[in-house]
Amino acid sequence: MSANYDIVIIGGGPGGYAAAIRCAQKGASVALVEKEHMGGTCLNRGCIPSKALLGSAHFLLLAKHANLMGLEIGTVKPNWTKIQARKDAIVAGFRKGVAGLVASNKVKIYQGRGIVLSADKVRIESSDVEEISVGKIIIATGSEPVEVPIFKFDGSKIISSKEALSLPEIPESMVIIGGGVIGCEMACVYATVGCRVTVVEALDTILPNEDDWVGKTLIKEFKKLGITTMVGKKVTSIDTGSSQAKVLLEGGESIDCEKVLVAVGRRATCDKETIENLSLEIQGAKIVVNEKMETSVTGVYAIGDAVGSTYLAHGAFMEAEVAADNATGGDEEMKNYHLIPRAVYTFPEVASVGRSEKKCKEMGIDVVVGSAPFRSNGRSVAHNETVGEIRVIRNRANDEIVGVTMLGATVTEMLAAARALIGTNEKITDICFAHPSVSEVLKEAWEDAYGISLHVPPKRL
Ligand SMILES: Cc1cc2nc3c(=O)[nH]c(=O)nc-3n(C[C@H](O)[C@H](O)[C@H](O)COP(=O)(O)OP(=O)(O)OC[C@H]3O[C@@H](n4cnc5c(N)ncnc54)[C@H](O)[C@@H]3O)c2cc1C
Repeated sequence: MSANYDIVIIGGGPGGYAAAIRCAQKGASVALVEKEHMGGTCLNRGCIPSKALLGSAHFLLLAKHANLMGLEIGTVKPNWTKIQARKDAIVAGFRKGVAGLVASNKVKIYQGRGIVLSADKVRIESSDVEEISVGKIIIATGSEPVEVPIFKFDGSKIISSKEALSLPEIPESMVIIGGGVIGCEMACVYATVGCRVTVVEALDTILPNEDDWVGKTLIKEFKKLGITTMVGKKVTSIDTGSSQAKVLLEGGESIDCEKVLVAVGRRATCDKETIENLSLEIQGAKIVVNEKMETSVTGVYAIGDAVGSTYLAHGAFMEAEVAADNATGGDEEMKNYHLIPRAVYTFPEVASVGRSEKKCKEMGIDVVVGSAPFRSNGRSVAHNETVGEIRVIRNRANDEIVGVTMLGATVTEMLAAARALIGTNEKITDICFAHPSVSEVLKEAWEDAYGISLHVPPKRL
């Protein structure tokens, strides 16, 4: 007799495990099927390992500049084997933690590939094959790196972010194709540990979803790290015939390097059999869902990278909560995707939430932009982290703040405050910010959007 669950979740990444816990908290009997490791892309080959490597690289960067802080600490150099071991230990620890957390919520974890046979049956393929009966299904099967047909991954010279996180040695040189979030973060890791890095971006700026000043400033900062950034350049082919890879660009230029990291985006994934068995509606590779995270099949929900709305772990968390609520009798909707924060852990960091200036322009919103630099902030100067600024965007018509864009040392940690402030009725002048703190720059920029900053010189509005 097959086991029976109220809800089965396919995939144990941030979307899947969050949905499982929330469904269990609501009293449902829940099973989760994971074919590889709990934690999904985020924990095993994404957010966490990349931040672990960035953590080591950032520490190295600070140590290299110790003399600026009045310290003499001699030569510092990376030990890549230890950096990798530290990263692997962090991942292993969290992997165990997530599995334990899910199990402690009385969710049954099945190790194997889950294929949906119908809206009420799932087959689990592992060493045995087992079928389970289900009330509702949440698909959280994630995504994979986009492969470019004319230069496919070979896992050796042409690699994806997965291999880039686990290279056995620091390459002498690396060309990164794609100046998006993953490409820029990996550029910071490898350049800091001594690899000669070139970022090639087809569009005319890096981090193209942000306002132009962000890409321009980051390119300048990348130069200080030794990163060459080439924008408006298309890669036409890669020749891997000799010991080095030769990256050929439109117009005839070429770059020789040891590794080519292709970081041109991610693509939603879901098993072909599941799609066919359910006749699921798909757009491109993404599973089509409505605001309730319902697919085209009653009782089947989809979330996270598999629906491709954010390609972010915290986007998957939010969608998981909505799907879990609805699958257990609630009535929730995913609203305000633009208020999902965007964080880039480069040196310096980039963080934004809400609308950018260029998005406002596209939408015909007339804006006033307040700004404040880190160079006039006491704590930033004390920490020798003075690069960058915060810009706050006010809708001139109704006076509401519609977006915040930040570039600076620790701006990702201020995203929650920026998000919480957008749409609040509380006046920023009534909120007391600790002094000296880096977050005072957020207050100054916010007030500057209304022409009332105490520490930013008056501007014409
Ligand atoms: C290098 C890198 C850095 C990143 N950094 C960040 C970051 O800093 N912040 C951020 O928010 N996001 C980041 N992301 C994105 C983030 O990892 C994803 O958005 C997030 O993991 C999506 O969660 P998910 O649950 O939808 O899918 P996934 O995490 O991909 O999980 C899907 C899971 O489903 C399993 N699965 C698939 N098919 C089946 C099946 N048939 N049966 C059983 N199991 C199956 C897979 O094995 C996988 O474990 C990064 C990604 C990469 C690649």
